[in-house]
Amino acid sequence: MHLQSLGAALTVTGSAHLLTTPRGSVLIDCGMFQGGEDLEARNREPFPFDPPDLAAVILTHAHLDHVGRLPLLVRQGYRGPVYCTAPTAALAETVLLDSARLQVEGFRQALRKARRTGREAEVQEPLYDEDDVHRTLALLRPSLRFGEAARVGPLRVTPFRAGHILGSAYLLIEQGGERLIMSGDLGNRESGLQLDFAPPPPADAVVIETTYANRTHRSLPATLAEFGDALRQSIRAGGKILIPTFAIERAQMILYTLKNLMDSGEVPRIPIFLDSPMAARATSEYFEYGDELIVPIREALGRGEDPFWPSTLHVVLTSGESQRLNRYDGPAIILAGNGMMTGGRIQHHLKHHLWKPSTSLVIVSYQSPGSLGGRIVAGAETVRLMGEEVVVRAQVHTIGGFSAHADQDDLLAFLSTTGSPRVWLVHGEPEVMEAFLPVLASRGLTGTLMPDHQEVDLLNTSFPGGRPPGLPTGGRDARDSVGGE
Ligand SMILES: [Zn+2]
Repeated sequence: MHLQSLGAALTVTGSAHLLTTPRGSVLIDCGMFQGGEDLEARNREPFPFDPPDLAAVILTHAHLDHVGRLPLLVRQGYRGPVYCTAPTAALAETVLLDSARLQVEGFRQALRKARRTGREAEVQEPLYDEDDVHRTLALLRPSLRFGEAARVGPLRVTPFRAGHILGSAYLLIEQGGERLIMSGDLGNRESGLQLDFAPPPPADAVVIETTYANRTHRSLPATLAEFGDALRQSIRAGGKILIPTFAIERAQMILYTLKNLMDSGEVPRIPIFLDSPMAARATSEYFEYGDELIVPIREALGRGEDPFWPSTLHVVLTSGESQRLNRYDGPAIILAGNGMMTGGRIQHHLKHHLWKPSTSLVIVSYQSPGSLGGRIVAGAETVRLMGEEVVVRAQVHTIGGFSAHADQDDLLAFLSTTGSPRVWLVHGEPEVMEAFLPVLASRGLTGTLMPDHQEVDLLNTSFPGGRPPGLPTGGRDARDSVGGE
């Protein structure tokens, strides 16, 4: 089996891997590049293959950096099946429609600005629109089930629980006597929401994500204690408590945690506003597919309770309601997206509250250094919000332990049942992957950084370990971007 990584090679975003066999090619994930202009420009590069020639597409999970370029593939002529699990199909619909809406809104906004300077010809068309997404959704085949082998084009594919987000799978791929594992994104075994990933079977080669391959997460109990402390302190300060959250997985984790903290009396009950229709929609899928979640949540669902609904929760649907929250008096928790504060409803809440010393900003997601959230975490005194300079006087609490991604211990545990495969590293920054190589070697495993766009024979490679030839040394600070979470 030959693999060509068209994204998430030497970076954490844009996952797309073309698997070629003598009997046809299958694309595994088709994700969007996110995290700054240079990376995002890569979304406009043509695919280095003819989309109608693909035998099939498989999705490991519904994060935008794994599904976001799928409508482009369809725009360029792909009409074949897109296999995934049922929850991935449900979440992909929410994620892709939101993405199309943002694309089109961004385009209209840029066009309005450009008209004033007569430069509208320079504004790039949106990558795709809702019609493209609907054509894409029609191709989804939500037939993959954990532990059950399926025929996908020329491949025999068995998905297993990855424990990363709802519906997430890693894949055992068998073809011509070779066994390959594609990890997709693997979950943190202390996610507090998802069941652990299933132990993988032996394989000849493993393509594994390495987002956090160089570090160990803070434990879940310590993280929850830290979150509780931050909330109590924030409630004492008496102002608004803003929690920027991504709509899938993090929002549900925070709602579940808030409910537990308030029900147990550890945190006083104050009003909670979930100001994200997308998060509200995604939460309904967590009901539908609750069997993937940890025991206390499954039990609560079995009793007919709503584990994601603290008693003081209000869901804010329209943007008018969202604006009216600015005039709401008294302490309240506001959950709004996006998680890195680079857009979305969190921006107007920040504009109205970030300058008040009584406000608390509780950060529960990774913030890339270039994002608005990253600048606030780094101690910026003022930030620009919706065209205005706003001084940062709010208390900022950074809770680092919530993560939906495997850390180094999780990755080693994952590899521990795979025998002695060749290990190909993807979905990580080069520095992180290089730090992981000696750790792999100490376990008797040969790791190789997957090169970008260069086809490799997964079992008979010409560079048997370490760095691909020509990889420049150094680079920016290792870690995660939007897909990281
Ligand atoms: Zn993911």
